Amino acid sequence: MKKKITIISLGCSKNLVDSENLSTQVQADGWEVEFDNFISDSKTVVINTCGFIHDAKQESINTILSFIDKKKSGKIENLFVMGCLSERYKKDLEKEIPEVDSYFGVNHLPDILKKLKIDYRKELLGERKISTPSHYAYLKISEGCNRTCSFCAIPLIRGKQISIPIEILLKQAQNLAQQGVKELILIAQDLSSYGYDLYKEYKLADLLEELVKVQGIEWIRLHYIYPTNLQKKVIELMKNEPKICKYIDIPIQHISQNVLKNMRRGHQSSTIRNLIKRFKTEIPEIAIRTTLLVGFPGEEEVDFQELMQFVSQSKFDRLGVFTYSEEEDTFGAKKFKDTISQEIKDLRAEKIMQLQQTISFELNQAKIGKSFKTIIDRKENSYFVGRTEFDSPEVDNEIIIENSDFEIEIGQFYKVEIVRAEEFDLYAKITEKLL
Ligand code: SF4
Repeated sequence: MKKKITIISLGCSKNLVDSENLSTQVQADGWEVEFDNFISDSKTVVINTCGFIHDAKQESINTILSFIDKKKSGKIENLFVMGCLSERYKKDLEKEIPEVDSYFGVNHLPDILKKLKIDYRKELLGERKISTPSHYAYLKISEGCNRTCSFCAIPLIRGKQISIPIEILLKQAQNLAQQGVKELILIAQDLSSYGYDLYKEYKLADLLEELVKVQGIEWIRLHYIYPTNLQKKVIELMKNEPKICKYIDIPIQHISQNVLKNMRRGHQSSTIRNLIKRFKTEIPEIAIRTTLLVGFPGEEEVDFQELMQFVSQSKFDRLGVFTYSEEEDTFGAKKFKDTISQEIKDLRAEKIMQLQQTISFELNQAKIGKSFKTIIDRKENSYFVGRTEFDSPEVDNEIIIENSDFEIEIGQFYKVEIVRAEEFDLYAKITEKLL
């Protein structure tokens, strides 16, 4: 009987890559792997947890407890927990939830494999079996972060920045392309600083110049750009290289000088304003995604109003907002009292998202009648769902294609014309199949 394992991957895409690296090693040993199947009949389960903020931690703990029940009822035999939550709270978890067979932190792949009686295959470093739809994959280019943002526990969990050498990333990209991947989504904690720890200079542009040469890759997407240290050459490449999506994710967190200072973001408000302006000037059609954090200690109403005004003026194409949750051992937790009530935090987040909804509706209306290269991600009921180069999977707008004379294939590119638009979704008809 083929051994079977279920991997529950919580949290961000960087965690997903870790889960996929585990899956690759386990499959190489002849196991069958299932992802995120909460009702699986596997006897062995690994939960890759998130420990970033309160809600994510709660979700991880609830997931562990739900599998403890399955273990108690004999549905599963082995339960292992890995990732950010257990990296951060291993001792507490071992005491409070002892029913888990073993807890592992981040970067403990060989130890987990040992528990599963599987030899760690170093030669698989350049290879990865993906869990995403076969036409797109995340490429994690570095681990950890050297920055010291007051609210963030990631450097405490994932450590200092460690860039993955260009030649290994290239091998991974070629391997993914051979598996049919057409869209590579570059991720890290801080993409702008890629390479500095390894090459003593920023190397994101050099990496991109290599990745655009990989046969089969048609879209390269950049996530988690930090507002400083971004090489001019990266913007040049985005402008001139058709394979690099005219899409950028820049989590700015806030715009008020007072709040940015307390957040220890290490730059002026003007740095963000100038960077956004430069992107929009150099690449007018670019889609900009950002993430904001409201309710950080010391955020006065005037600071929040400045943020609202900035969101209104900047007209971000995509935007997400979090409310501050105090994370122990962070500079923020040690320095500031978390005095803003959750009620006010939620109200500020809601106001931002209401404003963004009107902006997104307006921007989407302007797309009606226009044509876009679109990749098909999935079929849902009677319609197909796709994305343009201006939309990243799982977080951005989707293109809905209700019916078509064309035979539609998942993972294929088509030219579509937008016929209707809502706040966050676009409806389109296919006008051409693209090769
Ligand atoms: S850049 Fe700041 S917010 Fe992002 S991972 Fe690093 S410390 Fe955290």
